[in-house]
Amino acid sequence: MDKLKKYLLELGASKVGYADVNGIASEFTSLPNGISLVLKLPKKAMDHIDSEDYEKYWGCFHGKVDELSEIALEGEEYIKNLGYDAFALTMSRNECDMKKLLSILPYKTIATKSGLGWIGRSALFVTPEYGSAVVLSAILTDMPLEFGKAVTDSQCEDCENCQNACPVNAINPQKWNDRLNREDIIDIDTCFEYIIDQYKAGLGCTKCMSECRLTQEYRKG
Ligand code: SF4
Ligand code: SF4
Repeated sequence: MDKLKKYLLELGASKVGYADVNGIASEFTSLPNGISLVLKLPKKAMDHIDSEDYEKYWGCFHGKVDELSEIALEGEEYIKNLGYDAFALTMSRNECDMKKLLSILPYKTIATKSGLGWIGRSALFVTPEYGSAVVLSAILTDMPLEFGKAVTDSQCEDCENCQNACPVNAINPQKWNDRLNREDIIDIDTCFEYIIDQYKAGLGCTKCMSECRLTQEYRKG
């Protein structure tokens, strides 16, 4: 394992991968190499969902986002100290277009291209180890990296757990591959409207994450 990956894992990242992201976002053309960072959610986060304690769930979720942002920023500094340019693509630096509900450079794109997992039927990023109970971040750099083998097709197999669990039927039967658009696999507007209504009621919807077959396997493991 190379020193950078070892460093990021020692800081607490659950998974780290490298991908060629050259040309994906015009804002970052000088930083063509992507480092995908994955941090697992603790199993107790799913307990909070079971008990519909969304305040605690979101507290736990945002705590993990902050933790991973810190790791990304420390990674940025580490790379700069080696003499390369780097930019920690933390949540606050990866603006979301609220009309399209898409960030400048989606973390999921860097993660699948790094070979760390795939996009589930739910349109969430899925890992073999933790299902979709993860948060994502990334660092962009011009440091030469040995890229992982990109995952280009779903590994959900015959599972339909998330599709069956969605209360508003927002998930399409079509399984992901990297030639499809997001709207081919999920009706994101229907999902978002439901989440907003739930949020206003002090709740949330995380069914497709918590009911993911692989999230459940992680929970039991
Ligand atoms: S977040 Fe809820 S509404 Fe949206 S796809 Fe998942 S289960 Fe369906
Ligand atoms: S529940 Fe099944 S189909 Fe949905 S993302 Fe998880 S593994 Fe894929």
